[in-house]
Amino acid sequence: MPYRKPSDTEILDAIKDALRRHGIINSQRKFSELVMRELRRHDPDYSVSEPRIRRLALSSGLVTIEMRARESDEKTSAGLCPVCGGRTEKIRNLTVYGGTVTRGYRCKGCGYWTGLKRRVPTLYIFSPKS
Ligand SMILES: [Zn+2]
Repeated sequence: MPYRKPSDTEILDAIKDALRRHGIINSQRKFSELVMRELRRHDPDYSVSEPRIRRLALSSGLVTIEMRARESDEKTSAGLCPVCGGRTEKIRNLTVYGGTVTRGYRCKGCGYWTGLKRRVPTLYIFSPKS
């Protein structure tokens, strides 16, 4: 199928329109669907991935995103933030012996954090920033 990719500006406009029309949107899938619906008013062949929509929404300052997460059994490893794709940094604690231990990781971009067991995002709530 001949998918076409919209520009960042077009996606941001669609995010604005979706939030204006629907207010608080309490799932990532629904948010993406509504943003996609706005985009397809302009071009029915537009397609864009959920992570790209979420990353743009986060960096735009237009949206407040609240995230719920559950703890998994997997060990957390250093790496990119699963929410926004930004860099994570270690959360350290001092030990009584004067060293430090890593307690988890935190994203500077969006505030996502995880302990030593990986926290997996399960639900995103999108609301317009007032
Ligand atoms: Zn992040």
